[in-house]
Amino acid sequence: MKSNIVLLTTLVQLLFTQTACNQTSKQMKYNSLTSEEKAVILNKGTERPFTGEYVDNKATGTYICRQCNAPLYRSEDKFDSRCGWPSFDDEIPGAVTRNIDADGRRTEIMCKNCGAHLGHVFLNEGFTEKNTRYCVNSISMKFIPATKKVIEKAYFASGCFWGTEYHFMKAKGVIETTVGYMGGHTLSPSYKEVCTGETGHAETTEVVYDTTKTTYDVMVKLFFETHDFTQVGGQGPDIGDQYRSVIFFTSSEQKQVSEKYINILSQKGFKVATLLEKAPKFWSAEDYHQEYYDKKHGTPYCHIYRKIF
Ligand SMILES: [Zn+2]
Repeated sequence: MKSNIVLLTTLVQLLFTQTACNQTSKQMKYNSLTSEEKAVILNKGTERPFTGEYVDNKATGTYICRQCNAPLYRSEDKFDSRCGWPSFDDEIPGAVTRNIDADGRRTEIMCKNCGAHLGHVFLNEGFTEKNTRYCVNSISMKFIPATKKVIEKAYFASGCFWGTEYHFMKAKGVIETTVGYMGGHTLSPSYKEVCTGETGHAETTEVVYDTTKTTYDVMVKLFFETHDFTQVGGQGPDIGDQYRSVIFFTSSEQKQVSEKYINILSQKGFKVATLLEKAPKFWSAEDYHQEYYDKKHGTPYCHIYRKIF
């Protein structure tokens, strides 16, 4: 019995030591704060408008919590609200908690991980499609630029590939474009074969881009803004299956981003005809099709940029 009590006491002691250790290590993970940082992060102050470090920051990267380093916002969701503080229309899922202010009017936002005060969130102001403005103090965050160069590929079919490529090859952050065929059932098709309509391929542009300079969001927006995505069975005067509008996604992330913009367009009242398909093998087209309009010093007849987003 005595030995049992000793064992129990040791266990209880161990448990307490363990808990104490956990608390210490959790606290140690937090960064020490300057008095200016404490005034905002702990005492829920607000920095003066247009003075914060990140108000005009347009670089690609992630905004993390100044106190605990938890990722909070992505540069893709930052927009210029001219309110004087960094503004985002979305958070990194689950990163931020909301709390009604003492005055009962405004909604405070805090880091979900450590409770650091970030700022306030405002709804229904009409700034962006999401109708949400996370108004965040720069001092509550730290910006981590996306410095690691990651090369990604995206595949878009939007009618005659000369026109699709024309816009993508000129976009910022795009390293290379190639026109070709995708989504059919024959191997290594020629242009002549595709034009018969019997191979099932769509004229497609492969876009290779640098994720430190641009994003898939930007690519998808450009895709929708440079063709008539409501047209079924062709594009402009080009009628036939090879001219159908398709996003061939290469990852679940690309699929989600594409779905996001299709939803936005549907909400705007557009009847989106664009298909969303998992990317199969891409077959490069013949050399004379590559960078066609630049070689001919021409401009596309049915791919004209119009701003939507
Ligand atoms: Zn935090």
